[in-house]
Amino acid sequence: MCNTRPCLKLEIEDPIASFRAAINENPKNISYTNNSGLTSRTMALNAKCWHPNRHLTISFLDNPPASLKEAIKTHIWEWADYVSLTFSFIDNKDAVIRIKTDTTQNASQIGTDALTIAAGKPTMFIYARPGEADFRTVVLHEFGHALGLHHEHLHPDANIPWNKPKVYQAYAEKWGMDKESVDLNIFTPINEATTMTPYDPTSIMHYPVEKELTDGKFEVPMNTEISWEDKRIAAYFYPIEIPDGGSCESP
Ligand SMILES: [Zn+2]
Repeated sequence: MCNTRPCLKLEIEDPIASFRAAINENPKNISYTNNSGLTSRTMALNAKCWHPNRHLTISFLDNPPASLKEAIKTHIWEWADYVSLTFSFIDNKDAVIRIKTDTTQNASQIGTDALTIAAGKPTMFIYARPGEADFRTVVLHEFGHALGLHHEHLHPDANIPWNKPKVYQAYAEKWGMDKESVDLNIFTPINEATTMTPYDPTSIMHYPVEKELTDGKFEVPMNTEISWEDKRIAAYFYPIEIPDGGSCESP
């Protein structure tokens, strides 16, 4: 089984705050509602994207070594070619994206959910370290979340032929995850993605899927690069050539 620690979904303390943050930042985050319209009962976000062309400030909370900071920065910058957002790394603990490296997890808030986290608290956790085989992959993946991307294996069209009993057993033994956590992080599709992009098994946002945890045929390797589809959706959310009011909706 893959040795990369699973990136687990972070809890949103206040779903209403999450919703407000998303639509205040970019009203197009609710531009698609599965043709059901918005009512008080069906209000559902399709995206948590930043406003196109926005400037995102990024900081480190726990004063990691310069070498670690530089390594993380290097891989975050890899996303910059595909989005109209601009980034800067600052020392201020009130940066929009706040990275904690003194941690035991790799995880990140999804896009504008970072705005719901109290000032000074982390919005992203990086446990991986330079020199480890998965370091670059982890940073690319976590910053993908910060841009608003969800886990690709939870895409509604993924239809991964999981062998669920084996998955429960493997993730419990390897990572100490209980059934509820496995259900949430591996088996529960993300509704918000329903009108987004086609399922992309090559996405940097996809968990590796081992054959022994599926029907014995289906597998997804550890994807180590930002995929073509990742780049396409990033460019769609954050169009570089449109200076104002770009799109954050289904391509
Ligand atoms: Zn993740």
